[in-house]
Amino acid sequence: MKLVLATGNKGKLREFKQMCEDEVVPFSELLGEFDIVEDGDTFAANALIKARTIYEKLGSDYLVISDDSGISLPILGGEPSIYSARYAGVGATDKENLYKLIEEVKKKSLTSTPAYYTAAIAIVSKYGEYVVHGWMHGDVLVEPRGVKGFGYDPVFVPSGYTQTLGELDDDLKSEISHRGKALGLAKPIINMLKNKS
Ligand code: IMP
Repeated sequence: MKLVLATGNKGKLREFKQMCEDEVVPFSELLGEFDIVEDGDTFAANALIKARTIYEKLGSDYLVISDDSGISLPILGGEPSIYSARYAGVGATDKENLYKLIEEVKKKSLTSTPAYYTAAIAIVSKYGEYVVHGWMHGDVLVEPRGVKGFGYDPVFVPSGYTQTLGELDDDLKSEISHRGKALGLAKPIINMLKNKS
């Protein structure tokens, strides 16, 4: 079974390629680029929507993996959560979303506040559907630092560290991140499904 990743997000794709021993192909290489309407109300629902959409187009020779993820700030009532990719509006860039988050934290007269990332990874194959989750806790700052990672990483300091994910090494992020943890749970499922075929 070939592994296909149901994401067009370059940051996620880079991290999946780094973390998977198997070859993972982005869906756009097989189907071209197109948008998938993510109208679920949880990370898990949106991850399943993405994986099912691609699986239905590719067929049963494929094992499709998707990731739906985002950042949540308790001080903002949990926002932006599932709306992280469009926090500054539909079609907003990572940078626009990052600065919108900074503005919202500054409005609370804070320079740092607790936050956490969530990742839901869905796996869809002819043998069934699975969803796993991973989380990473830390703090969001109002001054971006570093150029590594993507999205909100320049303002996110993981618990137990002093540097942002924009400054920390990619390998370290893979070990401690929401995506890394979810993928750790997804790998045995992927291997089990591969061995069935
Ligand atoms: P999705 O592609 O709809 O799941 O949106 C994910 C969004 O959440 C991204 O566009 C980022 O804004 C944010 N996000 C998710 N994971 C990360 C991460 O590891 N670092 C930084 N931002 C992330």
